[in-house]
Amino acid sequence: MIKVGIVGVGTVGQSVVDILQKNADIISARAGVDIIPTIGAVRSLDKKRAVDIKLTDNPNEVINSDVDIVVELMGGVEEPYKVVTQALKNGKSVVTANKALLAYHRYELQELAGNLPLFYEASVAGGIPIIGALRNGLSANHIESIVGILNGTCNYMLTKMIQEGVNYNEVLKEAQELGYAEADPTFDVGGFDAAHKLLILASIAYGIDAKPEDILIEGIDNISQTDVEFAKEFGYEIKLLGIAKKKDKGVELRVHPTMVKDNHPIAKVDGVMNAVSVVGDRVGQTMFYGPGAGGDATASAVVADIIEIARGNRGPMLGYKRGLEGEKLKLLNAKDIVTKYYIKLKVEDKSGVLAKVTNVFSENGISISSILQKPSKIQDRVRLLLTTHECKERDFISVVTKLKTLDCVEENLGFIRIEE
Ligand code: NAP
Repeated sequence: MIKVGIVGVGTVGQSVVDILQKNADIISARAGVDIIPTIGAVRSLDKKRAVDIKLTDNPNEVINSDVDIVVELMGGVEEPYKVVTQALKNGKSVVTANKALLAYHRYELQELAGNLPLFYEASVAGGIPIIGALRNGLSANHIESIVGILNGTCNYMLTKMIQEGVNYNEVLKEAQELGYAEADPTFDVGGFDAAHKLLILASIAYGIDAKPEDILIEGIDNISQTDVEFAKEFGYEIKLLGIAKKKDKGVELRVHPTMVKDNHPIAKVDGVMNAVSVVGDRVGQTMFYGPGAGGDATASAVVADIIEIARGNRGPMLGYKRGLEGEKLKLLNAKDIVTKYYIKLKVEDKSGVLAKVTNVFSENGISISSILQKPSKIQDRVRLLLTTHECKERDFISVVTKLKTLDCVEENLGFIRIEE
């Protein structure tokens, strides 16, 4: 028999207990051993919960008990860090769903875990088995790219903005009322949650040891209906994507709103759903789709990890036993990203303005792919919407800076990167 202790018996923790108990027959058949949740830790013992295991308000009681596996489902970074490190020091196997913890501490936890299993399937895209896919199913491949819709809240909001013409503030309020967005939505809409998940995937695919502050992260809060209309006109969808791309000199890691061609499989992923597209050098393009959050979907992945541990799987945490791909794979500077851009400008409606604007692009070696002029609500102003061919981020930013100095251009410039 394998005994499981759970630190954090909230939304996911309660589902974990429920699945372990109600699906015990299939779980013990697959694991070859009975798996029993015996103890859980919570902050408040007064709250009513739908579980019938022993509860304590002291996480140490779980870590120091006779459980074989400690499941960390409390959220946050510092407290879980203490729980997970102490559990490993006590010789326990660990399962966690905590992307924030792993975004900051995955390499030292891997080191500390050594041969003890530390599994974390639920930390990225909830119910989608993308970690297992990268660690196991695709392990024969050099990973060329990973492109993912990794945050259901943002995808829900963008879908509403595109399909129903609702503006950003309205859709945010609605997402908060439905419980999809927190009262302080920054972590989701600012792209940080997606960045945590991208960093975890990039460690498995490329061995990149980066922290959130090392990579380009932009949220969806500047997306307007002008952008949405332009995207539709040119056959794009707007998605918040986590992107990891292998280039000659290293790996690009970035999270930002992105215009993707509407025939790309990821463009068709709507609402709160998540999806990850992985391109391997031998397998080609693969696509994973499913629920990114929710008690049962997330717990499904947590219990799968528990079953793997019960089966005796002791694979290395990040999926590799020696350094990955030698010294070649460095994190590229965000300024060296190469992509296409869409930019919107509000300009004076008079002759010569278009030439002045396009000159700035050509002076910086950037060629324009399309131009659209739209009327503005303000008299004597028009909106200019342009897209570029591929160029370096540093050259594009220099164009944006120079455009701001032109008298004929108003300050409110916004741009979105394009992936095809
Ligand atoms: P939650 O509902 O807030 O549950 C957290 C649990 O941890 C609660 O039972 C809480 O106790 C307990 N807890 C917090 N601090 C504690 C402490 N110091 N000592 C003892 N217990 C403590 O959170 P959740 O939604 O289940 O999420 C858990 C983890 O899963 C997080 O890392 C989250 O990022 C990850 N995750 C969640 C989802 C999802 O859909 N919810 C999806 C993917 C990953 P009280 O109940 O007494 O407050």
